[in-house]
Amino acid sequence: MSAFGADQVREALEGVKYPGFSRNIVSFGLVKDVRVSGEGDVAVVLEHTIDDAGVVERIRRDVQSTLEGLEGVGRIDLAMRRKDGASVSSSGGADAPQGVPGVRHIVAVASGKGGVGKSTVASNLALALRDQGLRVGVLDGDIYGPSIPTMFGVDQRPRVTEDKRIHPIEKDGLKILSIGFLVPPEKALIWRGPMVMGALQQFLRDTEWGELDVLVVDLPPGTGDAQLTLVQQVALSGAVIVTTPQDVALLDVVRGIQMFETTHAPIIGIVENMSGFVCSHCGHTEEIFGRGGGEETARRHGVPFLGAVPIDPRVVRGGDDGRPILVSHPDSPAARAFTEIAAQVVRFVQDSSPTAS
Ligand code: ADP
Repeated sequence: MSAFGADQVREALEGVKYPGFSRNIVSFGLVKDVRVSGEGDVAVVLEHTIDDAGVVERIRRDVQSTLEGLEGVGRIDLAMRRKDGASVSSSGGADAPQGVPGVRHIVAVASGKGGVGKSTVASNLALALRDQGLRVGVLDGDIYGPSIPTMFGVDQRPRVTEDKRIHPIEKDGLKILSIGFLVPPEKALIWRGPMVMGALQQFLRDTEWGELDVLVVDLPPGTGDAQLTLVQQVALSGAVIVTTPQDVALLDVVRGIQMFETTHAPIIGIVENMSGFVCSHCGHTEEIFGRGGGEETARRHGVPFLGAVPIDPRVVRGGDDGRPILVSHPDSPAARAFTEIAAQVVRFVQDSSPTAS
């Protein structure tokens, strides 16, 4: 008899990280089948949806050497096959990503790091979608800096009914819920990623969103395991990735793209925010942080570029005063950029199947 069984093999494979992430290949659902014979021969089947041949090879090598490290192992038969027509979840069934009842499309707004204008894009995008006649909600999941309430000038807390259903705040024709309304700030800072994601998913599920065409989710900044888990578990129609033109921000974007590709969550496109400064007097554009890097990164990775939003001090003022620029200066270049981005988001979701009816 061999000294180990299939459970021990799976356990050993939990030590193989998915390249670029701290989560392992078992938790990603890549390990489809493990068989161990009495003589210690091991047969492992990995099923994946990865397009990058380098990543596939790296996983193959790591799995092979992990299996070779098993004490008393005999023959190793490692099969890696592509799962075609795969969706976000590699395991399907009970683990398949969940939608939100009554919400037709969930659109996530993500960024590689904080401060690039993710929440600004999320709120103005929501307003621009509303202006296109859609019923829109906003879930502010940026627990580390929940700024959506300030941006919309909302300070009342949402009502929670006896049966623990949360009623979002209605403002500017939108249904708004911020994680900041319900999680005390001092707790937010010590919450670890998985707790944040657990809370976010609860807010998605336990809120009376009513009938919505689009729910815009402002994700916590970053593209780590926590965001990845949410992206895997919530049926997203697509994601918008926000960046600024600086190189450091663009490097983070590549990681963001990889995160969505890993889970096969569709990427609607990239927005370059704070892209040049348009002088409000003469209309001249000054490229303070540079320009075009977002578009170039999008092109290189085969992802749509949704548009560039210029730096405009009125965006900051509007954000602080509770009047997003789309409300305060709908004809400004920044507001027009948001409108154009929203039009592309609408086209994208119209072409994708709803996550809930
Ligand atoms: P994030 O959600 O990525 O942390 P925010 O949306 O909170 O970023 O934006 C960070 C700061 O940058 C805010 O003060 C916001 O008003 C400002 N800001 C965002 N976009 C622009 C812009 N296009 N022009 C000028 N200021 C902007």
